[in-house]
Amino acid sequence: MTNTTIFQKIIQGEIPCEKLYEDKLCIAFNDISAQAPIHYLVIPKKPIPSLRDCTEIDKNLLGHLILVGQKIAEDKKLSNWRTVINTGAESGQTVFHLHIHFLSGRAMLWPPG
Ligand code: AMP
Repeated sequence: MTNTTIFQKIIQGEIPCEKLYEDKLCIAFNDISAQAPIHYLVIPKKPIPSLRDCTEIDKNLLGHLILVGQKIAEDKKLSNWRTVINTGAESGQTVFHLHIHFLSGRAMLWPPG
């Protein structure tokens, strides 16, 4: 299966990003259209379209993505942040490569729109 999402191109180094972290499983970078003073994404290198497509096999990977995001938050000295995974177009997902949003630096509303 070929995966030509913009995030796959970032993983392959074909388009630039403001990289915050990378290891063999994932990459984290600033969101190009930040919705808060701090807004970064953590994505797996494995081309999983969305959380809906995850299985038991991905259990450790999902935990890793969240903990990488937490480590970045710690490095940035954040004590409050919001973690978001949009799943499906109606939820707001626009890039069909799994990603976790980390947003901080402003008060957040609840419920989200
Ligand atoms: P979602 O709407 O949950 O699918 O989130 C996709 C996110 O990817 C949006 O917040 C976009 O601003 C972000 N995005 C799209 N293209 C890029 C890019 N080239 N570099 C960084 N973030 C991007």
